[in-house]
Amino acid sequence: MDLAPLVDAVASSRRMVVLTGAGMGLASGIPTFRGTDPDAVWAHDVMELGTRAYFERNPVGSWRWYRSRFANLGAAEPNAGHHALVALERWQRSRGRELLLVTQNIDGLHRRAGSEALVEVHGRSDRVRCPRRGCPHASPAGSLAAADFDWAAFDAAPGEGTLPRCPACGAAVRAHVLWFDEAYVDHRDYQFERAIRAFRAADLILYVGTSFAVGITAAALDAGGVQWTIDPGEAAAPVGVEVLRAAQEAALPALVAAVAIRVRGLGPEAE
Ligand SMILES: [Zn+2]
Repeated sequence: MDLAPLVDAVASSRRMVVLTGAGMGLASGIPTFRGTDPDAVWAHDVMELGTRAYFERNPVGSWRWYRSRFANLGAAEPNAGHHALVALERWQRSRGRELLLVTQNIDGLHRRAGSEALVEVHGRSDRVRCPRRGCPHASPAGSLAAADFDWAAFDAAPGEGTLPRCPACGAAVRAHVLWFDEAYVDHRDYQFERAIRAFRAADLILYVGTSFAVGITAAALDAGGVQWTIDPGEAAAPVGVEVLRAAQEAALPALVAAVAIRVRGLGPEAE
């Protein structure tokens, strides 16, 4: 892996955006939902089950599916790539520069690793919300901690009677995630406008582990400018995006170390 051109780009960047996708979680044991890894078990039905239409038709089925997905996330820990992005953010800030991390992942691993300038543009697996417009726990700003509900009862006997319900209005709560038949602007927590502003202002956009299959990457690509992707696979990158063929959990720590040495002859702050 030839890091030098990407090191140059990062070292000279004043306003950088990093956009991460499912490839970020593979080293933490989280299967991708698209892509070619053999554990991408949901690829065939994610487009149907990951919708508001499905939740409205079958809230018990929707939650059974999400509970099986989220079970993988609870045991996952941030990997070397997550930690490297925290170091990169702190290091950029320490020299008066910006880094915004936009993630498509709902697993919370960037937050747990310590990233602060963070947009979780597809929502969060550790929160739920009320589906009923007008309820304080619903869009455009409401949500509730998933841990405050009795999931054991639902998991043991999934049904209408055990569905977690909104404490304000009694509606069955929904996952606090962006579904395929919904819009980024549906909830303030997605911070879509913040992401768009950052893409447009950025002098460098770095993609990590994304297949470029979702809407937020199209918005980033539209912004133009210097763009790189870190991708261990063989998929062609979109026009205008330079490629570093490497696993992110190796490339990101190496990048952080190399950039710090390049700029001031010092290593990044020890974590
Ligand atoms: Zn409600």
